[in-house]
Amino acid sequence: MSVQRSAAIAESHRRKAIAIEEKGRRSDLFGVNVFNEKRMLQYLTKDALASVRDAIFSGSKIDRKIADQVAEAMKGWAISMGATHYTHWFQPLTGATAEKHDAFFDLLPDGTALEKFGGGQLVQQEPDASSFPSGGIRNTFEARGYTAWDPTSPAFIYGTTLCIPTIFVSYTGEALDNKAPLLRALHAVDEAATAVAKYFDKNVAKVNATLGWEQEYFLIDKALAHSRPDIIMTGRTLVGNNAAKGQQLDDHYFGVIPSRVLSFMSDLEKECTKLGIPVKTRHNEVAPNQFELAPVFEEANLAVDHNLLLMDVMDKIADKHQFKVLFHEKPFSDINGSGKHNNWSLATDTGVNLLSPGSTPMKNLQFLTFFINTIKAVNTYEELLRSSIASASNDHRLGANEAPPTIFSIFIGKQLSSVLDELEGVSQGKLSPEEKTELKLNVVGKIPEILLDNTDRNRTSPFAFTGNKFEMRGVGAKTNCAKPMTILNTIVAKQLKDFKKEVDVLIDKKNLKKDEAIFNTLREYIKTSKRIRFDGDGYSKEWENEAKKRKLSNNKNTPDALNILTSKESLALFKTMKVMSDVEVGARVEVELEAYILHLQIEGRVLSDLVYSSVIPAAIAYQNKLITNVSGLKEIYGAAHKSFSVGQLTMIEEIGEHLNELKKLTDAMTEARKKANVIKESKKRAVAYCGNVKPYFDKIRLHSDKLEKLIEDQLWPLTKYRELLFIK
Ligand code: ADP
Ligand code: MG
Repeated sequence: MSVQRSAAIAESHRRKAIAIEEKGRRSDLFGVNVFNEKRMLQYLTKDALASVRDAIFSGSKIDRKIADQVAEAMKGWAISMGATHYTHWFQPLTGATAEKHDAFFDLLPDGTALEKFGGGQLVQQEPDASSFPSGGIRNTFEARGYTAWDPTSPAFIYGTTLCIPTIFVSYTGEALDNKAPLLRALHAVDEAATAVAKYFDKNVAKVNATLGWEQEYFLIDKALAHSRPDIIMTGRTLVGNNAAKGQQLDDHYFGVIPSRVLSFMSDLEKECTKLGIPVKTRHNEVAPNQFELAPVFEEANLAVDHNLLLMDVMDKIADKHQFKVLFHEKPFSDINGSGKHNNWSLATDTGVNLLSPGSTPMKNLQFLTFFINTIKAVNTYEELLRSSIASASNDHRLGANEAPPTIFSIFIGKQLSSVLDELEGVSQGKLSPEEKTELKLNVVGKIPEILLDNTDRNRTSPFAFTGNKFEMRGVGAKTNCAKPMTILNTIVAKQLKDFKKEVDVLIDKKNLKKDEAIFNTLREYIKTSKRIRFDGDGYSKEWENEAKKRKLSNNKNTPDALNILTSKESLALFKTMKVMSDVEVGARVEVELEAYILHLQIEGRVLSDLVYSSVIPAAIAYQNKLITNVSGLKEIYGAAHKSFSVGQLTMIEEIGEHLNELKKLTDAMTEARKKANVIKESKKRAVAYCGNVKPYFDKIRLHSDKLEKLIEDQLWPLTKYRELLFIK
């Protein structure tokens, strides 16, 4: 066995769970490191507090004097908490978060030392982040980007640093990050949904999109992970024969959490609680070593920040517990990948969940309005929604092992389907009093308040209604939720805006009553968005054919999925909803394509490295062993040796054949890469990587995995699945 593999295994066996002290109540710990409402009350003047609250509620600007006060207060609090540095914390298009720390410490010209942090530093910073991808918006030598404070997401202390959530924009005002477009989309949906919610309650002044994500991940012992160059460099195994026992028995799902993992989870939850991330549930997932963590849902912008922060905290805490956490969507072949379900809804400032059926027919009409408009939005923009979750790593997961397929569809369950079927029959124009009563009593009035039990049957539907929220399930474990949330909220905003217009026309021009106008409009929506509703098996060939007939998109890879973003219709949508300009969309696509190419390029390099430096040498070593054996037998027995060495001879040949294929395919893959690399246009280069390079990966893997099975365990250099995947 290679020294590294055996040392890693031995090391992993010696590990013990780290004891985590659980003192006091979690609720006392909640948010102690956050400059939240409670701290603001304590540290801010009345004016400053009112100004920040107003900025959070309506997006108003905070003037410089107030910013100075807020900065002073934040500094005082942060230093009292032991912070020495501050940073503008932002979300560059790479998908992760970035930060550049500055010390509070400063020197006056006379040499006096002091702690300095004013409104200027709070509101705006220039991180000199010229190496972040901008998709060509910001020529590095021309203009730099700057970060600007987002007061809607509270500052927090992480380690000894005060982190200030910010957006990242170019000097010409274009977004260079994932947060700025999200904030614009959330503003759009707030405006549109508030206007519609006012049909039902005049007191509604604001609607927040809510997001509850469910983060899946794998934990691998640190030493074992580091013994695999593919895991370290690409986040997934590029080769590796399946363990004899995988997830067939489903014995991991909701099973007893291993003690080392449990102590990691406790530690993680403690840290999250302090940071104000309201983590709530934890459990084993289906695959061995796979787990899930979910918080209580929050306003979407905050939830996105919290998810990004969580991923960072997880990396750090995992390291402390001698684990490596994998967020890759498909780290191991043939067992489940990791997703991040995005549960989404709309909530009013009056405390109503607009996707929750109510106890009266009027409340239910409100529910149906938002429910059907969401369905219609997804129906119109399904391809755009699909594009928001496209990435090289998620391409491996979608459509495989219990993950949702690449075709978008909506599952709403039997009960609501029959309600929509009934509504489809509503009369055109004015409704007779009898029909209205009938609708109120027997259709709208019959929607039970609690739908949870009978709506959650189809676990792999890409977009499922789960009782009081929609659950978008194709989102990858690694993905920044800002991307799908930007698209989803934009399309729903657009749809609600259109709806309001149509209803108002019916009321003003056709003299219909409000509820009649709403019923009439919804009836048409139900008819025109039928194709997106699907309650069956999303994996079946029949559905693929049926979806094609329904003209639903089925983009199986990232380069194809991204196309729609720059279509005329999409650009117009982003522009009218004031979410992104043409330049911003173009830049995003450019960045996504580059990321895709780089991802595959790195995988290709690592794979040929593994083949040449690990797999082929192991194959030769074992082949030599067999050859020595056969020649020894021949020496002893002469011609008679043949009857004892048939097996060995076959194996020598089999190894030779796989080795041969392995070399041929790896060299061909390298050639294909070279050819792709010289293609100038990134779209074409991405397509070449997808179509000409990537297909080699699985073929190469096949021969490597066959060799792994043939070769003596002691000689195999790479840590095996069975060793990686079963934490004690
Ligand atoms: P399950 O665990 O069966 O999928 P839950 O009701 O526990 O269902 O919810 C799962 C996730 O959905 C949690 O992260 C939760 O916070 C989130 N969630 C619940 N209600 C909402 C809502 N109104 N808006 C957004 N997310 C929600
Ligand atoms: Mg779920």
